[in-house]
Amino acid sequence: MYGPEDVESSHDVLVIGAGCAGMRAAIEAHDAGADVALVSKLHPTRSHSGAARGGINAALGNAGEDSPERHAADTVKGSDYLGDQDAIELFCAEAPGDIYQLERWGALFDRDDEGRLAQRAFGGAGAPRTVHAADVSGHVLLQVLYEQLLAREIRVYEEYFAWRLVVGATGCDGVLAWDLARGGVRALAAKAVILATGGSGRVYCGSTNAHACTGDGMAMALRAGLPLEDLEFVQFHPTTLVPSGLLVTEAVRGEGGLLLNAKGERFMRRYAPEAMELASRDVVARAEQTEIDEGRDVNGSLLLDMRHFGREKMIERFHGTRDLALTYAGIDPLEQPIPVRPGAHYHMGGVATDVDGRSEIENVFAAGEVACVSLHGANRLGGNSLMETIVFGRRAGRAAAEQALKRSGSAGLAPSARVDGERELARLLERHQGERPSRIRDELGASMHENFGVFREEGGMRRQLELLENLRERYRHVLVDDRGEIFNSDLVQALELGYQLDLAVCMVSAGLERRESRGAHSRPKDFPARDDENFLKHSLVRWSNDWLDLSWKPVTITKWQPQRRTY
Ligand SMILES: Cc1cc2nc3c(=O)[nH]c(=O)nc-3n(C[C@H](O)[C@H](O)[C@H](O)COP(=O)(O)OP(=O)(O)OC[C@H]3O[C@@H](n4cnc5c(N)ncnc54)[C@H](O)[C@@H]3O)c2cc1C
Repeated sequence: MYGPEDVESSHDVLVIGAGCAGMRAAIEAHDAGADVALVSKLHPTRSHSGAARGGINAALGNAGEDSPERHAADTVKGSDYLGDQDAIELFCAEAPGDIYQLERWGALFDRDDEGRLAQRAFGGAGAPRTVHAADVSGHVLLQVLYEQLLAREIRVYEEYFAWRLVVGATGCDGVLAWDLARGGVRALAAKAVILATGGSGRVYCGSTNAHACTGDGMAMALRAGLPLEDLEFVQFHPTTLVPSGLLVTEAVRGEGGLLLNAKGERFMRRYAPEAMELASRDVVARAEQTEIDEGRDVNGSLLLDMRHFGREKMIERFHGTRDLALTYAGIDPLEQPIPVRPGAHYHMGGVATDVDGRSEIENVFAAGEVACVSLHGANRLGGNSLMETIVFGRRAGRAAAEQALKRSGSAGLAPSARVDGERELARLLERHQGERPSRIRDELGASMHENFGVFREEGGMRRQLELLENLRERYRHVLVDDRGEIFNSDLVQALELGYQLDLAVCMVSAGLERRESRGAHSRPKDFPARDDENFLKHSLVRWSNDWLDLSWKPVTITKWQPQRRTY
């Protein structure tokens, strides 16, 4: 499975990223008859998908009346009417079949007393619809998919850092990658490429995302000329543990966890009187931020109370969460509420694709968090993202295989592409003066949090763009201290930082132009209301030669006309 250190290789389909989306796509492309390989900067089972705890949504109707139609209506409302309803309907209709397939592949989901797959309540959902494996759902899915990968002997270029899409006259010819373990630039040719590189949460300090979530695929696509859609929409998760920023799963609130302020009030009563703690994430995050801004916080946090769960439920359902609280906050949630606050969690925006993962370049596809189908619109419902990696990973895998098998001959990359890449990296490694990436990265993260966080306004966003210009200027002289070839994490972090800076500029630019409040994009001071007349549309950002171009595209509406969104 782990082949020789080829400097060059060629496949029908190359999947970049080996999380849930990448692995699901590779399995499907293989089963559709393509020669497929994966490229991943991490070992597949270390991908961020493995951190998902709460579960995966499908309208099975096992714990209460439900249907794909209800799932779709909840997703449309959750998206603040910005999700494309054709994509949402298709997703909700196909999700149950995918759950049963995962089950047959060995995903040990929890069951209810009658032996059916158990389903728990999640925010913004009108019925309990989240299938789960205790509080390690993502971990279980990664293991199951990896096993399927092994069974098919699909090749993984493991610890390869994909760095550039090579686009020629007839589309994408493949990818240049840096071989982390051995050093050196590798040219990987392909007839079709699927980006499955996950999210970009590390643009922020205080993020639930793993260190590897640096938006590489989004930025690579941008640099290859592809448009990124709805980049202004970043989800802040309401319950990240203070001070570490680690995620406390929404399942805690799904199963009765309460949010309290410094006065011991269940403050959600004022913001979402019906759904309370289980309102949509954007609603709860804003409520918390308002409590903090108005001084009803406890040292910058709110309190998540699980004491009433009792020992048995805590151990059975939230063993991992209790461990997190004990280890990282020194608190036993059986005895005391735990301190939480909103933290950057998920990017609703990404590479613009259709429901088969197709981007504007015919043979470049994207699936999972890197893509914007658009399923989540302005706000994602918890549990919909793991399902997205499976449904749209599968669809992208099938479409990419069909596309690749239509192309005759074998894939090839012009030798000059690799030589140019080698020269470029050599220049970076030979630089002797400059600033290390970490300082620039810390300033980026802190300033994005301050100026492009839960709440935004014109002045802050303009300041942020100026600051980003300054950071990008400093980045032009970034210094890679380590000049070695083997596991040069300095080099990788410098390259990742370049991606993050490009993305941040696009995010804030799109945010400035969206002069309304919708879903996770909230401008309470200058544009507090949703404005369907002018902004019921997706933003599209392109960037060539340092020139940023912003345009818009319509939202697809099938059944659900926009309504006032209350919980
Ligand atoms: C803490 C946490 C908890 C979550 N809980 C839930 C939940 O309960 N339910 C839910 O639905 N969603 C949840 N989410 C969201 C969901 O888990 C993610 O959106 C989803 O798993 C992303 O999957 P992915 O396959 O797109 O990306 P990832 O799983 O992040 O995988 C990305 C892959 O790309 C590779 N990669 C990235 N850049 C490069 C590069 N330059 N070169 C080579 N390889 C690269 C990585 O090595 C990795 O293999 C959670 C997210 C977090 C952070």
